Amino acid sequence: MDRIVLCTGNPGKVVELQALLPAGMDLVGLRELGLPDDLPETSPTLEGNALQKARYVFEWTGLPSVADDTGLEVDALGGAPGVRSARYAGEAKDPQANMAKLLSELQDRLVRTAQFRTVIALVSPEGEWTFEGVVRGHIAATPRGTGGFGYDPVFIPEGEEVTFAEMPLDRKNTMSHRARAVQALLRHLGQVR
Ligand code: IMP
Repeated sequence: MDRIVLCTGNPGKVVELQALLPAGMDLVGLRELGLPDDLPETSPTLEGNALQKARYVFEWTGLPSVADDTGLEVDALGGAPGVRSARYAGEAKDPQANMAKLLSELQDRLVRTAQFRTVIALVSPEGEWTFEGVVRGHIAATPRGTGGFGYDPVFIPEGEEVTFAEMPLDRKNTMSHRARAVQALLRHLGQVR
């Protein structure tokens, strides 16, 4: 498995993951292959969406394909916004509006525990696998910090007093859901090489 397609149109994600892969394992993005990057994501679960994207690209290219999907799962909201995290407040995918809606839903709630969960799917000639990364934490009373993206200003990871948006990226990367899912994928790739 020397060449892997990362099913994203975001060149930044390709660079980020390439840095974590063992030497000799090359990652290519959808744009480099001339493929459209708006892949269908119609499943009601993170697992389903990650597999849907990876299968689609594997059928197209025949190359091992990796796709991810992430959601913020809030306990008091029964796991919402979950798979709908990007569009929680509407199709505009506006992070400020998403956080405002979340804080309003949690108004007066004492239990504010939540988790970020990333699922990475790998579809290759050898088979299909999914890998999960979770970070537990709770939702802050108000947004804090300017780093990161998405819901970072309202998420305080367990054992910390600051939000993801208040910590340097390299610190977030030591504990994040995405980093943990990537580590699980890398452990697997180490086994199959
Ligand atoms: P995606 O599956 O990586 O596109 O993530 C879906 C949505 O989850 C994003 O649009 C963000 O709203 C949210 N999200 C994913 N990862 C993070 C993160 O690391 N911090 C904050 N929000 C995130």
